[in-house]
Amino acid sequence: MKKIQMVDLKSQYEGIKEEVNKSLQEILESSAFINGPQVHAFQASLEQYLGVKHVIPCANGTDALQIAMMGLGLKPGDEVITADFTFAATVEVIGLLQLTPVLVDVDADTFNISIDALKKAITPKTKAIVPVHLFGQVANMEEIMKVAKEHNLYVIEDNAQGIGATYTYTDGSKAKTGTIGHVGATSFFPSKNLGCYGDGGAIFTNDDELAHILRGIVNHGMYERYHHDVIGVNSRLDSMQAAVLNAKLPRLDMYNAARRNAAKQYSTALANHPNVVTPKIEGDEYSHVFHQYTLRIVGADRNALMAHLQAKGIPCAIYYPIPLHSQKAYLDVRYKEEDFTVTNQLVQEVLSLPMHSELDEEQIQFITDEIKAFLG
Ligand SMILES: *Cc1c(COP(=O)(O)O)cnc(C)c1O
Repeated sequence: MKKIQMVDLKSQYEGIKEEVNKSLQEILESSAFINGPQVHAFQASLEQYLGVKHVIPCANGTDALQIAMMGLGLKPGDEVITADFTFAATVEVIGLLQLTPVLVDVDADTFNISIDALKKAITPKTKAIVPVHLFGQVANMEEIMKVAKEHNLYVIEDNAQGIGATYTYTDGSKAKTGTIGHVGATSFFPSKNLGCYGDGGAIFTNDDELAHILRGIVNHGMYERYHHDVIGVNSRLDSMQAAVLNAKLPRLDMYNAARRNAAKQYSTALANHPNVVTPKIEGDEYSHVFHQYTLRIVGADRNALMAHLQAKGIPCAIYYPIPLHSQKAYLDVRYKEEDFTVTNQLVQEVLSLPMHSELDEEQIQFITDEIKAFLG
């Protein structure tokens, strides 16, 4: 059996090696490291893949979120609602821009922002909602957009874990995640579903005016060379990262299908186990791209199971061990523990198993056998 890894970028590279090596070599020869033709090609291909009017490449997913918020003109004191159970980047940029983060609880079934908690958190100061498509499962976008419209709020989708997922509306129409809100942000960090070989990110929008604003912000607030109209940042996707993404984007659906197959095999093997809650897929199968395959371990010692698996050479991880509302940097007197019962419970129960496009049946069989052997 091949050594089990949480993420296996090396095996994936074997499948695109010639193409990637050739493009990287071309960039080395041309020296067009920044703003090369690979960046423009990637932007156009991603716009087409997502069915969105504008993709603005940038340096990483955290920047993408920050630039999106800057582009929307959010001002210090504006409240931005996001999920308590997610990676810190989301809340970090809200704080950096001196906006007021308002963390709310999530749903235990989907790990995504709770619509009830969201509604309760809205005040006259609320200006935006940042749903996160956590672990690759689309958030309930139809409800979120409805709430946003009612209260005149912007929606910024954190699509760092959801790229390639498709949301299906109740009327049957479909849209790719990241293109449903006013603006979407994603990350091309190597381990993401569409990852480059360093840092990268992008912002998506269908709004022409916002796209124009965003393009200036990523480039020092310049709309005309050396005319700085607004305070911007320096945030670029470089040519080499774009070259890697150009090789991977045409394979993204295939990679995501492989992740879904692995998830299906995991869930079948662990179905109906009294101590295991397998991930629930809300919507059709395309609504989940399994950035992570995350179990809930109930009525058993999650940490001991994790130690057992690691001792057997099976990597696994807790995403995320501490709710954001309990993190030192984001403490707020307004938060009450009883408002975060689900997140507080999830951090005790979640366990993410190896998940990537190269996982094979033998490996999954071994992993699930070991889980069942430990739990009994
Ligand atoms: C990875 C990630 C980010 C940040 O992306 P970087 O490219 O690492 O800056 C933001 N939000 C979520 C949910 C993520 O998983």
